[in-house]
Amino acid sequence: MEVVFLTTEAVPFAKTGGLADVCGALPTRLANRGHRPVVIMPAFQQIYNAGLPIETTDISFAIPINDKIVGARLLRSRLPDSEVPVYFIDQPEYFGRPALYGDAAGDYVDNCERFAFFCRAALHAITRLDLKVDIVHCNDWQTGLVPAYIRTSFENHPWMAAAATVMTVHNLAYQGQFWHWDMLLTGLGWEHFNSAGMEFYGHLNLLKTGLVFADSLSTVSPQYAKEIQTAEHGCGLDGVLRARSANLVGIINGVDGAIWNPATDPHLSQNYNADSYREGKAANRTSLRAEFGLPDDPNVPLIGLIGRLADQKGWDLVIEAMRQELQKGTPMQWVVLGTGDPRYHDALQELANAHPDRLGLRLGFSNPLAHKIEAASDIFLMPSRYEPCGLNQLYSLLYGAVPVVNPTGGLADTVVDTTAETLAAGTATGFHMREYSVNGLLDALQRAALVRWDNQPTWDQIVRRGMRQDWSWRKSAAQYEHLYSETWLRKAARRAAPAPRPSDF
Ligand code: ADP
Repeated sequence: MEVVFLTTEAVPFAKTGGLADVCGALPTRLANRGHRPVVIMPAFQQIYNAGLPIETTDISFAIPINDKIVGARLLRSRLPDSEVPVYFIDQPEYFGRPALYGDAAGDYVDNCERFAFFCRAALHAITRLDLKVDIVHCNDWQTGLVPAYIRTSFENHPWMAAAATVMTVHNLAYQGQFWHWDMLLTGLGWEHFNSAGMEFYGHLNLLKTGLVFADSLSTVSPQYAKEIQTAEHGCGLDGVLRARSANLVGIINGVDGAIWNPATDPHLSQNYNADSYREGKAANRTSLRAEFGLPDDPNVPLIGLIGRLADQKGWDLVIEAMRQELQKGTPMQWVVLGTGDPRYHDALQELANAHPDRLGLRLGFSNPLAHKIEAASDIFLMPSRYEPCGLNQLYSLLYGAVPVVNPTGGLADTVVDTTAETLAAGTATGFHMREYSVNGLLDALQRAALVRWDNQPTWDQIVRRGMRQDWSWRKSAAQYEHLYSETWLRKAARRAAPAPRPSDF
């Protein structure tokens, strides 16, 4: 199948989170399975740091946005070690900025205009490149207008009319909500601005637009697919998702084994596998401790944390739990890598200043350091309030950093709690919080630490089982392939059927 990925992030060109890992890896896996994927994304400033050649093409075009005509040209590169083309929409005024979506002052105020332009330009690029598309795979709110354009403006297009759309939600909390007058930027008529369409409590909602108009919906774990249909995790869109539940699936993200493999990872001070994990991790622990100026005491467990400093990730619990343990002088070391909300920066920095021998802190984004922390940690802590899929717990399983998690979304799907039953069944791979609170977090950590220090054979089993699991893209790519065929067939059947009544739309 010819699959066009529309995304704002793809490794190695631009990344703020897991979306980039998915859009950098899945297209290559699909190409290996005989499909013809193409990626289209904005030409953000960051793309030039990827170290890959970026060529100009002779394709340029102009798109009307409200009362302006905005020009753009198309640049071209490839995903690493593949023939998968990546096309960039080059519009420096919109995309040539230091960050992708916003800065310390908040989201860029023209985000609706930027991404409405991106959607229209991407569709224009598809027609100019003469791609005979079977599936347009949209990702997150920035691409939410595309299913609406295909369902309306392209309905009579000679070949784009056959293209079916998949809308993947990587995080339902980010919806792209704008004031109603931004409808004018979309070029779509006011007849779509109603509760069955693009409107959400008086605002324009771009994610909802995608959810309403796409032929199929997916999200990044089966558990999250269920949770987002509930009031608790539905972020106001649970009703829309329940209405579409027959066409909503959850597919767990894979891990790129060429990048995340402790046996070959170039960032580690010593490579290791499930058999040699004890020596390997000890060597990496020693180097990481040296890097952070922490004492190298083999009897003190090292707890790693990596991630966006956002409320979603449960930093409020982490900071309070750390504060309590650091004050008590519990023999534990913490290494934290993250960037985000200044409130958390300040609170973490204060703790690190007070306890430099127990807390190693790096406030920033560093891919090499993320690898080193996974390799060095005994325990990886991920108490997310909600978690669509989560990648760090998968890296942790593969790197023998036993995950301690809040069992929500993808964390519930991928980490098996250690209990008498799961130990007997040989399935335990980590530890679940049994209550979402500071005490629940500390209880899960203590259960983990107890096994680690009192029961080495059981710990070995838990670590090795995780390290030997297969989280490669193989399974997930096959599931996406199935989703694409089903979606394409459903759209073909709809087109062959008599014209829909307005109430079907
Ligand atoms: P989310 O997409 O919600 O941020 P995920 O766990 O799905 O969370 O993916 C986060 C990705 O970003 C992982 O690959 C993780 O290693 C990486 N990451 C997050 N914060 C940092 C950081 N400060 N430095 C390096 N990598 C980071």
